[in-house]
Amino acid sequence: MHIVIIGGGLAAGTAAKTLSDVGFDGDVTVIADEPHPPYQRPPLSKGYLAGKEGANKVILRSSEWYADHGIDLRMSTQAVELDPAAHTVTLDDGALLNYDAVLLATGASPRSLPIPGADLSGVRTLRRLEDSDDLAAQLRNGGKRLVIIGSGWIGLEVGATARELGNEVTVLERDSVPLAAAVGAEMGEVFRALHVEKGVDLRTSVHVERITGSGSADGVLVDGETLPADLVLIGVGAAPNIALAERAGLRIDNGILTDSALRTSAPDVYAAGDVANAYHPVIQRHLRSEHWANARHAGPVAARAMLGQRVSFTDIPYFYTDQFDLGMELSGYAPLMTGADLIVRGDREAREFIAFWIDGGRVVGGMNVNVWDVNETVQALIRSGTLVDADKLGDSAVPLESLLDA
Ligand SMILES: Cc1cc2nc3c(=O)[nH]c(=O)nc-3n(C[C@H](O)[C@H](O)[C@H](O)COP(=O)(O)OP(=O)(O)OC[C@H]3O[C@@H](n4cnc5c(N)ncnc54)[C@H](O)[C@@H]3O)c2cc1C
Repeated sequence: MHIVIIGGGLAAGTAAKTLSDVGFDGDVTVIADEPHPPYQRPPLSKGYLAGKEGANKVILRSSEWYADHGIDLRMSTQAVELDPAAHTVTLDDGALLNYDAVLLATGASPRSLPIPGADLSGVRTLRRLEDSDDLAAQLRNGGKRLVIIGSGWIGLEVGATARELGNEVTVLERDSVPLAAAVGAEMGEVFRALHVEKGVDLRTSVHVERITGSGSADGVLVDGETLPADLVLIGVGAAPNIALAERAGLRIDNGILTDSALRTSAPDVYAAGDVANAYHPVIQRHLRSEHWANARHAGPVAARAMLGQRVSFTDIPYFYTDQFDLGMELSGYAPLMTGADLIVRGDREAREFIAFWIDGGRVVGGMNVNVWDVNETVQALIRSGTLVDADKLGDSAVPLESLLDA
């Protein structure tokens, strides 16, 4: 049996590791178009960017590990064609691989911004290791003027890191609050206040007209005012890398559609990680999660599914971030959190609290901010579907675990 994994991120890496761990004795080939073994990205906007963590925190297993485990890892190689009928993958070096099962773990790429000047040199996005190296070379010594367009997770994380390195940071957001789509306006305000307090010039409800400069970017024109910049980062989200799947005729809708065992619409073709819009059996709808934990846990599920095991990916989506002195974990079903009631337990002003999203009396999401060792209980509350007493939920004196028995 030959399993081909296409992708060089965490989903590809964890799938390959699982095949090795379970003692799969067939052939495994990993096709990764970046010049690295599969790696994880969260440190690229945090510790690695700041120079506090090395590449060993990013690249979890060396190319030797793959060789030692009998995995044929082909780096700097792109899969350019997938033929589900013939069960073949064509690579950009002309090689043709036959597969019995193939995993598409092609991830996502930064969205571009359709404004004049977006293609000037000095305008960056952040996805790859080299993007982070490049930003680090500019920001490590401080004293630079960084303008970030977009106050999503990556924009805010880079903003925080750059600020801590002693740079002037401006963040431009078209909504009235950062992160409103992810955590709602009330919780987005917590992040806005944090950044403002730490000296970030965070401007909301703005309209970015163009990036200025001739040859290289030297500023951003926003609502008629030009903000001078040494460096401009565009952080306006990511789009799933679906081109290969689309050409292969797979069903696509906001990513590659899969069932709960991560099977796509074509036989023996699976998808996992940022690129997959997987059916979640608990909430009975498709979910595409662009988070580390999703890639980390879906890769192994896909590996087992490819081996013919009966599996189902039922994780509650989980995300974490670190910005300045704020550490946060968020668990929950985004589609159910929209429009849900918010209950806060703890001290919002001191940024030490847990926020719960309640829908129909049940917890559908929870975000612990600078409160630790509660994520398991938060997830248990969500998973249990228990009807909770809102007053008790908001009362720090009531042990969280006790609400599970309610
Ligand atoms: C800077 C940054 C910080 C982040 N921080 C956090 C965080 O704090 N918390 C969190 O939960 N999440 C975070 N994330 C999100 C998290 O990193 C992603 O969810 C995760 O990387 C998804 O993994 P993946 O394996 O699905 O895809 P990716 O990591 O995108 O990997 C896909 C790989 O496949 C390659 N590829 C694509 N097409 C082909 C092809 N045809 N042939 C060969 N190779 C191909 C791509 O080049 C890429 O290397 C962060 C992301 C970034 C960019």
